[in-house]
Amino acid sequence: MNAYIIVGIVLVLWTLGGLYRRRKNRNKIICVVESSCTGCRRCVKRCTHHVLEAVKNEAGVRVVVKYPDKCTACGDCLSKCKFNALKLIERTN
Ligand code: SF4
Ligand code: SF4
Repeated sequence: MNAYIIVGIVLVLWTLGGLYRRRKNRNKIICVVESSCTGCRRCVKRCTHHVLEAVKNEAGVRVVVKYPDKCTACGDCLSKCKFNALKLIERTN
């Protein structure tokens, strides 16, 4: 019984944390620091909203924000980037 209560509390806290992060970041959007991006694609695989896309240019493979309107600023991709090449910035209209 205690295990159900603990699992319930964890689920409630997890949900509230997600809602808080979403509210806090609702005016933000992901941005790629091109000079730091290695094109590893870890962020592309992590984004379930398919916001990011890998493109090839003269410098090699780089990630771009292909569908900015779909970005929820959830931050999931940030934790996957080992090169500090992603930032959440204020959205401009
Ligand atoms: S995880 Fe970072 S370095 Fe890798 S492709 Fe994405 S932005 Fe570039
Ligand atoms: S912040 Fe979230 S929605 Fe936006 S690109 Fe990253 S993983 Fe995708």
